[in-house]
Amino acid sequence: MSFERTLLITGVSSGFGRALAQEALAAGHRVIGTVRSEQAKQDFEALAPDRAVGRLLDVTDFDAIDGVVAEIESTVGPIDVLVNNAGYGHEGVMEESPLAEMRRQFDVNVFGAVAMMKAVLPGMRARRKGHILNITSMGGFITMPGIAYYCGSKFALEGISETLAKEVKSFGIAVTAVAPGSFRTDWAGRSMARTPRSIADYDALFDPIRRAREEKSGKQLGDPLKAARAMLAVIESDAPPVHLLLGSDALGLVRDKLTALADEISQWETLTRSTDG
Ligand code: NAP
Repeated sequence: MSFERTLLITGVSSGFGRALAQEALAAGHRVIGTVRSEQAKQDFEALAPDRAVGRLLDVTDFDAIDGVVAEIESTVGPIDVLVNNAGYGHEGVMEESPLAEMRRQFDVNVFGAVAMMKAVLPGMRARRKGHILNITSMGGFITMPGIAYYCGSKFALEGISETLAKEVKSFGIAVTAVAPGSFRTDWAGRSMARTPRSIADYDALFDPIRRAREEKSGKQLGDPLKAARAMLAVIESDAPPVHLLLGSDALGLVRDKLTALADEISQWETLTRSTDG
């Protein structure tokens, strides 16, 4: 470890956020973690009474975010690393899923993350250093039936991350979009929002997907603690990547997607070129 940093991680009650907080604390860093209940705050602070600092925040409480970040910077200290981890998955066939579910998905996974970035950027720009990690997903590159809103939100966060990386690089601020494959967290369990089925036409396509996801929950390939160690390596790197995939499933599926995309672009190249001039 080159030096001790102060990390602000959203959603440290379970999963990646909790694992990263634990590993960062073990490595000697200070972690301010956001949670949504007093009990979760107490549980988190018990991890390291001097260096684990809990704050209550729902990332969709947009009007509260600037104040929470300002309070953290004045009472705890400058934030070196923001990790936008808080998020959840909506599952449901697009035609069946209410627009309100899409709004909620984007409020948490996209607008919440952007509001957090906007709150820490003034301080990072003034200090001419900082690192923002956005936990996206392999679903920010690949898609499958039944998670249109989730993939849409993660594609959005990938695009926003990559753009921001270009905007703030010259200020000494790095942005890394971390795209995990399937990991053993509460994502497909207690945290998932599942829209009930209503259109029989989709039964054959979607019912097996829903069932398989429920059966796989808790048995996924990826270990969140190993993901946390990988994220720490990126945080401690002098030249962090703009994109990082985590897990061999993400690696294989994203590579296949990029190959298929390149093939399709080539197949239609003549028509693509025909619109110039
Ligand atoms: P998790 O165990 O369910 O953890 C999600 C965390 O986000 C919890 O701490 C939860 O808090 C918090 N959260 C959810 N909505 C929030 C809100 N509106 N405001 C503040 N906090 C909120 O699942 P996880 O897998 O670790 O999820 C973390 C991130 O990884 C998410 O962005 C997810 O999309 C992404 N991801 C997960 C996987 C996977 O396979 N697990 C793969 C790719 C990407 P509460 O305890 O209060 O609900």
